[in-house]
Amino acid sequence: MSDLQTEAPLLPVLICPDPQLRKVARVVTEAHREEVAALVPAMFATMYKAPGIGLAAPQVGRLLRVVTIDVAPDGAAAPLALINPEIIGASAETVVQQEGCLSVPEQYADVTRPARVRVRYMDEQWVKREIEAEGLLAACVQHEIDHLNGVLFVDYLTALKRNILLRKLAKAQKELKGK
Ligand SMILES: [Zn+2]
Repeated sequence: MSDLQTEAPLLPVLICPDPQLRKVARVVTEAHREEVAALVPAMFATMYKAPGIGLAAPQVGRLLRVVTIDVAPDGAAAPLALINPEIIGASAETVVQQEGCLSVPEQYADVTRPARVRVRYMDEQWVKREIEAEGLLAACVQHEIDHLNGVLFVDYLTALKRNILLRKLAKAQKELKGK
């Protein structure tokens, strides 16, 4: 983690069912260059502090197509900032992995997604890149890109499972506010 990331301001993370989480984020253009330059370090700082392995700008109330990810194990750091990420290929093979979300705190569920995806994006230096993701990174990048489209991991669950999870979340949030 660089000094820049640790010194960046922490941003409040919106919690489900905040309606902002259901909005579609705008494509980043040259006009957002300064805004994104400030947003990316703040998103990394917020994500590491949580701690989480991924964060999408709509989760901090900014409707821009920006995602930060770091799936390196504890102690290591592999920060990945993705601007305007797009999935351009996905494997037919799927895998089930347990997912959680900083906007759905302390609730986890198994989600089925393509095992491997090819992602096109721009990095923080605005350089066009493509990566082939698998394992945890594949699930994480798909989860975060979903956020840019107003989709949450709970949307992949059956209505029954989703309702149970969201009720548990609402109860936990209520108790938190009562303290
Ligand atoms: Zn999430």
